[in-house]
Amino acid sequence: MTYKNVVVYCGSHFGNDPAYAAFAGELGEALGKNHFRMIYGGGTVGLMGICADAAMAAGGEVTGIIPEVFIAKEQAHRGLTALIEVPDMTVRKQRMIEMGDAFIILPGGIGTLEELADTANQRHIYGDPFAQPPIIICNIEHIYDGLLAQIKTWEEAGFIEPSEWGNLHVAETMEEVMGILKMKTKQ
Ligand code: AMP
Repeated sequence: MTYKNVVVYCGSHFGNDPAYAAFAGELGEALGKNHFRMIYGGGTVGLMGICADAAMAAGGEVTGIIPEVFIAKEQAHRGLTALIEVPDMTVRKQRMIEMGDAFIILPGGIGTLEELADTANQRHIYGDPFAQPPIIICNIEHIYDGLLAQIKTWEEAGFIEPSEWGNLHVAETMEEVMGILKMKTKQ
């Protein structure tokens, strides 16, 4: 079975380099056109909104999972296929992790890093490393070079076992992202 539900974690800001927003738009469009269902945080702001708008414009399905705090701030995206309201950030994160067949990390800040770390840390529930969903870090304009260097440092220091991380991918182009999504199959 091929992947269907693709969770996208990304910044609630645009970032300073227009390449970030450009890639977010390209990703949304590619997900929509290739019939993946995009699942994300449900907001209108920053790269989140750009990616979701592009997926919808390309005829895709988009599900947003949004905590009450952002509904109160009127930052919920009301033009999605589905918007699921949840009480808080923790429930949202858990729902996204449960729903995702694959996970994509776009440029973002601390919130995105937390979502990446929490998703990667769930590997213990899968048992077999080959059953783990792919986590694709999009290293656009080298934004994650520092993080990737830290992962290497953990490996060298003996705190990360590389054989446990076969599902972690790094991509710099949309072709690489789509190649991973289309190549892998879910058991
Ligand atoms: P950051 O990488 O720090 O910009 O955080 C990105 C994450 O913060 C998103 O995936 C959301 O979990 C959350 N977030 C921040 N602002 C909003 C918002 N206005 N609407 C929805 N989610 C938000």
